[in-house]
Amino acid sequence: MIKIKINPLDVAKGQIDKTIKKLGLDPSIGRILKKPKRSIRVSIPIRKDDGKIEVFDGFRVQHIDSRGPYKGGIRYHPEVNMDEVTALSMWMTWKCAVANIPYGGAKGGVTCNTKELSIGELERITRRYTTMILNNIGPYLDIPAPDMYTNSQTMAWIMDTYSQFQGHLVPECVTGKPIHLQGSKGRSVATAKGLDYCILDAVKCLGMRLKGLRVVVQGFGKVGWNAARFLHNQGCKIIGLGDSTGGISNPQGINPTIVHWHKIETGTVQNFGTSKNITNEELLETECDILIPAALGNQITIKNAANIETRILAEGANGPTTSEASEILAEKDIFMIPDILANSGGVTVSYFEWVQNLHREQWSEKMVFDKLKNQIDCAFSEVYDKMKQYETDMRTAAFMVGIERVVACKQTLGLWP
Ligand code: GLU
Repeated sequence: MIKIKINPLDVAKGQIDKTIKKLGLDPSIGRILKKPKRSIRVSIPIRKDDGKIEVFDGFRVQHIDSRGPYKGGIRYHPEVNMDEVTALSMWMTWKCAVANIPYGGAKGGVTCNTKELSIGELERITRRYTTMILNNIGPYLDIPAPDMYTNSQTMAWIMDTYSQFQGHLVPECVTGKPIHLQGSKGRSVATAKGLDYCILDAVKCLGMRLKGLRVVVQGFGKVGWNAARFLHNQGCKIIGLGDSTGGISNPQGINPTIVHWHKIETGTVQNFGTSKNITNEELLETECDILIPAALGNQITIKNAANIETRILAEGANGPTTSEASEILAEKDIFMIPDILANSGGVTVSYFEWVQNLHREQWSEKMVFDKLKNQIDCAFSEVYDKMKQYETDMRTAAFMVGIERVVACKQTLGLWP
């Protein structure tokens, strides 16, 4: 990954300023939007397997709840900090507004390296973290979900801990649960599915044909590998893939499912058949038709933006492109599907999970994907229309749609007292 120190909170605040100006709104509204309503910082002491005590830092930031309860994932990563979690909570607010689901934005995180923790240690961290934020989460208040290096097992522990304190099972307090514990069918691949639907819409708008398009995917976690698999199955040629250890390229095309098994066996996507090993920098600069950053934030910066050679940029990750880089890409006429639209499939199916839980229902996978397609297509065309109307790029248009919706709610609710 390209290491460059950019504070995501500066990026997120800059986006608010720019959008408020573009929408012609009173700058004082921007001052409200740039501060989260509640920021929680906790310390999480746990006993490690070797008997020693270690203390981790935990965060939960709740940005705005004018459109509904706070919603957003919890990430476990060594670089998690308050500024990053705050920026991510803001992006959740705009994402839920663009997707038009009745939620506000939140994000949580624990600064830790899951690769160095046992399953028991992860469970103790999760349960202690949940206990520390217990009074500030709940089905009508703030509903956590998975994010980087957390999964359905993490959500099951959160649900169990929350439910123990309530005295009964409360499935609707968290989403992204295992299916047998009232999770939703389709949730585990929902972000990649939503990304796929957005790409189909973009390809159509640009008058292209999906079959044969060359795809590069950075990140081989749940989003990256499933997106690569879906596109491969639809006739695209995956010419580059990468994970945190490096990348591989092959102009003849790579079968992502075989790479998936190779990664399980060897721990890396590299050294795969006749593919060439490349660095992450080279991966991002590979000439292609669709580039999917699906790893960490701040990957496309002022340093490499001019070298990005793609027709479509579909952001699976949150905040992979800095503001300056985004302007360079827009000048190069790269069609950007920004994160708050491109990866909104995850939180949209989280919303479906919550609705199913509240109604004690279980929908079929077909019903989930049909509803998701409808929701994504609506969001995409609203952003696309805004882009045309204001003669701007898709990123600016997405922020305009999201921020306009939130501000409308805020203004009608009023400022009290
Ligand atoms: N962590 C995911 C995101 O960044 C999903 C959040 C959710 O489902 O609440 O959108």
